[in-house]
Amino acid sequence: MAGNVICKLGKNVMKKNIYSVLLLPFIFACTEDNQQNISSFEEEKKYEWRLVTAWPKNYPGLGMAPERIANLVEEMSDGQMKITVYGAGEQVPAFGVFDAVSSGSHQMGHSGGYFWKGKVPAAQFFTGVPFGLTADEINAWTNRGGGIKLWREIYEPFNIYPIPAGNTGTQMFGWFNKEINSLDDIKGLKMRIPGVGGEVLKRAGGIPVTLPGGELFTALQTGVIDATEWVGPYNDLTFGFHQIAKYYYYPGWHEPGSMLELLINKDEWDQLPNHLKAIIETAAKAVNQDILDEYTAKNNSALRELVDTHNVELRKLPDDVINEFKLIANQILEENAKKDEMVNKVYQSYKSFKQDVSEYHKVSEDAFVEARNN
Ligand code: CA
Repeated sequence: MAGNVICKLGKNVMKKNIYSVLLLPFIFACTEDNQQNISSFEEEKKYEWRLVTAWPKNYPGLGMAPERIANLVEEMSDGQMKITVYGAGEQVPAFGVFDAVSSGSHQMGHSGGYFWKGKVPAAQFFTGVPFGLTADEINAWTNRGGGIKLWREIYEPFNIYPIPAGNTGTQMFGWFNKEINSLDDIKGLKMRIPGVGGEVLKRAGGIPVTLPGGELFTALQTGVIDATEWVGPYNDLTFGFHQIAKYYYYPGWHEPGSMLELLINKDEWDQLPNHLKAIIETAAKAVNQDILDEYTAKNNSALRELVDTHNVELRKLPDDVINEFKLIANQILEENAKKDEMVNKVYQSYKSFKQDVSEYHKVSEDAFVEARNN
């Protein structure tokens, strides 16, 4: 900038003043190249950001999403932006991610929106709700069905700009040491299950607990909890739940296609040049799909290993239990919508999209999968 000022000043002075000779060395340096160098200097301001996550460092799937975003952003910006990723507990606890980004102590975070239900009840829709949208469907609602606008509206008061950044696909109901044959078997059961799924469990007589992933094995092993859900075979195998639980129940009615979130402090975001904004959005979009692909590719062999090598008993929840969970889930969603204007606004958009997409998927994907598998 200082060079630019001297160039302009020098040219003006030279027209009027013989003393301009003193500025000649500067003026001769004022070529087009110089002007370009000045503007590229502006573009080349370096950004070194810190990203905190709700996952163990380098955790397969979930935890690799922010690592891959960081790598892509650094490559696409040719090193202009460098993001350092911290696992849960390294700089802030797993459930401190939202506050860290909101306050600006960290520029970025990676987590799941349903962890923040106490602060932002409507955020749960942007991870997923019981019997809700699958991975493809939640991507479509968010990116093309009006969801992203609502998501940014509900995080705006917290000074956070969210971007979808990964999806686990349909999860498993989880790990139990007793059979679930009716809702009676849920009564008094202390289970790790976040979000609206936890509210359903509670109404069915269970005791929902929200714990970060890194604490689940010990909690289950020591009896702090009786059962846990986590993600699916690929992730659950890495935590070793098969060593301490007998039954592995499906389907994951509570998390049909959980979307992960990249959180960005809004003040920092607003100050970024447009090309870096575009790079971050594009990197997150690529990783959003890449993580889903990873789960789809890895879950099958992990499930085989759990069943064939570790003798896990794979069980389907009885249909009547699933139907009861569904009734309760819909009651809770309707009640929650009546209690909170913003929850209602997001719920109406989500519900209407789910009705429409379900109608089409009944005659396309669902019908095809049924035909293929029977
Ligand atoms: Ca889960």
